Amino acid sequence: MSNAFVQHIAPGIDKLSPYAPGKPISELERELGITQPIKLASNENPLGPSQQVKQVLLDQLDGLARYPDGNAHALRTALAEKHQVKPDCVTIGSGSNDVLDMIARVFLHPGRESLFSQHGFAVYPLSSMATGATLNIAPAKNFGHDLEAFQSRINAHTGVIWIANPNNPTGTWLDHNTLYDFVKTVPPDVIVVIDEAYFEYVQKADYPDASQWLDEFPNLIVTRTFSKAYGLAALRIGYGLSHPDVADLLNRVRLPFNANSCAQEAALAALTDQDHIQQSIALNHQGLTQFAQGFEALGLTYLPSVGNFITVNVGHPADPVDAALLREGVITRPVENYGLADCLRISIGLPEENDRCLNALKKVLASAD
Ligand SMILES: *Cc1c(COP(=O)(O)O)cnc(C)c1O
Repeated sequence: MSNAFVQHIAPGIDKLSPYAPGKPISELERELGITQPIKLASNENPLGPSQQVKQVLLDQLDGLARYPDGNAHALRTALAEKHQVKPDCVTIGSGSNDVLDMIARVFLHPGRESLFSQHGFAVYPLSSMATGATLNIAPAKNFGHDLEAFQSRINAHTGVIWIANPNNPTGTWLDHNTLYDFVKTVPPDVIVVIDEAYFEYVQKADYPDASQWLDEFPNLIVTRTFSKAYGLAALRIGYGLSHPDVADLLNRVRLPFNANSCAQEAALAALTDQDHIQQSIALNHQGLTQFAQGFEALGLTYLPSVGNFITVNVGHPADPVDAALLREGVITRPVENYGLADCLRISIGLPEENDRCLNALKKVLASAD
C-alpha cells in the first residue's frame, strides 16, 4: 500500500490480516460449479434454529422499519434470570465476537499486553492488535491451555487474559478446579475473559460454568453465544456476563443498536426451546463418535474434542487436502493460521454429512499417498 494516508493508520492495524471465515456454500458453488456442497467449516448447528424461532422471525417482518430496543431489555432480563445475575451484568453483542472486541477496546491500548494461548481463538489477537496492544502468547500444553505458562507471563502490563473453554480449534477444555484456582491468582486489575461459546455441548461432570464465579471476581467476564448450539449464527447475537462496573465500561463503546430486533426476539425464543438444544447436543455427541471412529479407521490422529467440531491431523500439509475436499463438495477448515498446518477442523454435521465427509477424506488421502 503506497497511498499517503497509510502512514497515519492506528497502531497495530498494519500488521493485521482480516479474519478468515469458513468458505460460504455459495462461493464454492460459484467458483467450482459444485452443486449441493456440505459445509462443515464454521461450527454451526446442522439442525438450524428451532421451529419456535422461525415463527417468531416471521412475526418480526412488520417491525423492520423501527430501530430495535437499543438496551435489549427483554433479552437482558431473560439472560439475567437464566444466569442468576442482575440485568446490569449483561452486555449484548452482535455475536459474542462483538463483546470480545468491546473488551479489547476498553481494556487494551499501546503499552498493555493481551495474554492468550498458542492455538487460541483467532479473534483474540485480531481485536487486541487493533488497539495497538502487545500480544503475549503462552505456549500450549498438549494443544490446550497451559495455565502455569499463563501465570508466569502475567506482569504489570497485562491488560486482558483470554481463555476459551473449550478452545476452538483444539476442542480442549479446563476443569473446574484448574480454571477456578487460576482465576483466583489473577491480580484484580487484570481482566480475565472466559469464552464459553461451546458451553452447551460439553458433557463433562467437572466442566465449570464460570458465570457462577462473577460475585467473587469483579475482573471476570464470561461470554456466551447464540451462534453455536442455539443455531442462530446468521443473526449475530451473543453476550457478556460481568460485574456491572465492567458492563458499564463495555456499554460506553458498544455501537448503538448493535443487536437487531430479529436477533433479540429469536434469542429470547431460542432460550425457551431447551428441547431443541438437547436434541442438538445428542446429535453432536453421536457425530463426535462417528468422526473419532472414522479417523481411527483411516489411521489418522485427532484431538479429542468436547465442542461441536473436531480437529484431525491429515498427515500432510492440510491446504491441498482441503482443496481436494472442496472439489468433492466438502467444506472444512484448514487451521494453518492457528499453527496447525497439517490439520483440518471439521464441524460436526448431520450423520449423512459426516459420512460424506469421511468418505471424501478417504478418497482424497488415498490419491495423495
Ligand atoms: C464461534 C466462537 C465464538 C462466537 O462467535 P459469535 O460472534 O458469537 O458468532 C466465540 N468464541 C469462540 C472461541 C468461537 O469459536
